[in-house]
Amino acid sequence: MKELNPNAKIETKCLHSGYTPKNGEPRVVPIVQSTTYCFDSTDHIAALFDMPTEYMYSRFANPTCDAVEKKIAALEGGVGAMLTSSGQAASLLSILNLCNAGDSFIAATTIYGGTVNLFGVTLKKLGIECIWVDAEASEEELQKAFKPNTKAVFGETLANPALTVFDIEKFANVAHKNGVPLIVDNTFATPILCRPIEFGADIVVHSTTKYMDGHAVQGGGVIVDGGKFDWKASGKFPEFTEPDESYHGVVYTEAFGPMAYIIKARMQLMRDFGCYPAANSAFLLNLGLETLAIRMKQYCEQGLTVAKYLETKPQVASVNYPGLESNKHYELGKKYLPMGTSGVISFSIKGGRANAVKFMDSLTLASNVVHVADIRTCVLHPASATHRQLTDEQLVAAGIDGGMIRLSVGLENVEDIIADLEQAFAKID
Ligand SMILES: *Cc1c(COP(=O)(O)O)cnc(C)c1O
Repeated sequence: MKELNPNAKIETKCLHSGYTPKNGEPRVVPIVQSTTYCFDSTDHIAALFDMPTEYMYSRFANPTCDAVEKKIAALEGGVGAMLTSSGQAASLLSILNLCNAGDSFIAATTIYGGTVNLFGVTLKKLGIECIWVDAEASEEELQKAFKPNTKAVFGETLANPALTVFDIEKFANVAHKNGVPLIVDNTFATPILCRPIEFGADIVVHSTTKYMDGHAVQGGGVIVDGGKFDWKASGKFPEFTEPDESYHGVVYTEAFGPMAYIIKARMQLMRDFGCYPAANSAFLLNLGLETLAIRMKQYCEQGLTVAKYLETKPQVASVNYPGLESNKHYELGKKYLPMGTSGVISFSIKGGRANAVKFMDSLTLASNVVHVADIRTCVLHPASATHRQLTDEQLVAAGIDGGMIRLSVGLENVEDIIADLEQAFAKID
């Protein structure tokens, strides 16, 4: 087959990017279930330890994973990508590739609860400080948060579960003025709804466990390198611009140009932390990616229908869905997510935690699970689950209260989804 035209539309990329079979090769990306690879000579292997240009061991790279990495890089408009065994691993490595003990980075308070804990508690133990900022802060206020040792800025396109829309351009401007890259967690938006690199983000991370996989069959993550950040001009990243003694003196910016960040992440961090996914997981992720474009359109349409329905219910105190005109982030949503704002809605039930729990326990179609962005409709109570480890103050900062339910609208017929909600509302009247 011929290589895909790089100008192909995103639906086409979902199906064809990353793998082009040659004459007689399998049509579908094969699962390469081998940890190791054969070479004719000791010298050949020695050369790979100087410069890993071929597959050699399953902790660094695998042909199945590689095809999926290339597909996701193409979808996000990046120069390269690296899969990880979870979204948490992707967030962790995205920061560790930039920050050492004694450094700091800035993150928006609205990000996912698991990331709040990783950044605020665990990275602190490693001597890396997370400086929290309000996502609504002005450029001047953001500027004040910077310290001389600040090495990155981090935010989430569509926050889980606050569903605030991150002003990527604003944060990218301030980050770049300070000579540091902007990292965006694009999990809920997926590259179908928003491509942060087009708005100035430098690095994109995902929990592929969510919409990208879509079917709740495997967990994973990915880091995508936008390839545009100028590490040399910044002057703040000697590990990119000076020889790496742990890799025979390689200088990442010189050897790999625009791919310096993602190759450094693989050569140093994947080598040492070893959180690479199995080929079988990448194969399943690829199946999800093949239908991502078509699924995201339907999630957005059904999400908006259900959000509008929830707005009409007297038992509901508030509905948070940026696709609703009443939402404070409607305009930002139009700018960054013009196709729609996914299938995830958060809403608050009057009567707080007790009523929210009763409502959730009354649902029959929607499942009560620790998951989101699945093909099947599901609900979760953030205050008692994903955000349980947060203090009351952190909960408020993340936009969460006891009556709040996170509803992830799936791809069942939307009338069935609404009928299920309707009968559960009747139970709390
Ligand atoms: C779930 C999630 C993560 C963590 O991903 P895992 O695959 O569960 O490790 C990170 N960011 C966001 C926005 C998420 O929803």
